[in-house]
Amino acid sequence: MRISDVLRAKGDQVVTVAPDTDVARLLAVLAEHRIGAVVVSRDGAAVDGIVSERDIVRALATRGAAVLAEPVAAILTAEVRTISPDASLAEAERMMTERRFRHVPVVVDGRLSGIVSIGDVVKKRIDELEDERSTLTGYITGER
Ligand code: AMP
Repeated sequence: MRISDVLRAKGDQVVTVAPDTDVARLLAVLAEHRIGAVVVSRDGAAVDGIVSERDIVRALATRGAAVLAEPVAAILTAEVRTISPDASLAEAERMMTERRFRHVPVVVDGRLSGIVSIGDVVKKRIDELEDERSTLTGYITGER
């Protein structure tokens, strides 16, 4: 199972914000789309950073409510790990577990072409295991 299989089911839409968007607006975007992270991009295609609810919590805890008026550029993670649509689900799972983040933008030729979350990956892995279990049960009971 590959990243492209996940994107086929969920689509390739990625919510992005420009680096000069303020943090208060970022909160509204996260709430509006019911998501935990957005890709920061100047042109909607290149990945200039990623900002998740964790970055907001950390900034609020250290700098207080003043951070709401600051630009997203002040709190984003600039070194973003990305993945190719051809990569396996297991690779994405390993990357997210080892590096302790829950989102990975999918990039082709330097352009955004989707995003996967740990939730997407776990859901697909469960589907995969259930298919395998039902095939094996079929063999044992002679139904296949
Ligand atoms: P998350 O678990 O995705 O909410 O993110 C936890 C932390 O990792 C935050 O500081 C994010 O900005 C950062 N982060 C999230 N996704 C990535 C990624 N793909 N590459 C690098 N950093 C990331």
